[in-house]
Amino acid sequence: MKCPACGFPKDKVIDSRLSKDGQAIRRRRECLQCRRRYTTYEYIESSLMIVKKDGRREPFDRQKIMSGLRKACEKRPIGIDLLERLVDNIENEIQAQGHSEVQAPLIGEMVMNALQKLDGVAYVRFASVYRSFREAADFAEAAKSFAQKNEPKK
Ligand SMILES: [Zn+2]
Repeated sequence: MKCPACGFPKDKVIDSRLSKDGQAIRRRRECLQCRRRYTTYEYIESSLMIVKKDGRREPFDRQKIMSGLRKACEKRPIGIDLLERLVDNIENEIQAQGHSEVQAPLIGEMVMNALQKLDGVAYVRFASVYRSFREAADFAEAAKSFAQKNEPKK
């Protein structure tokens, strides 16, 4: 980032935090030449909107999906890179269909479909994490009986 005062192209980030509305990362930077401090904002690039059950819309939040996936894939042989790609694919797929918004449960369904091919255990775990998705209701039941059946013997 070019310093607004002297134009020097190098800075260091002193502080990084989420903006109040959670839609941007606010970074406090300091010019390495003149020490002037300035602020930059980093926004989510995705223009994809999620339509929630109550009709409200919110931007497609890959971090939210990633945290659910990471939880589901705990101690499973699945790398973060693979999960990042899974989310990329879903976002691309929706946008390739020409949609700028998508129903929240559909996202859950797409994630579960992708996960099912990847890892059965992670799939069932994810379904239980995403109980709030309408379509996940039945999967949550499946997850419960699965967990009981597969409880590791101590
Ligand atoms: Zn400067």
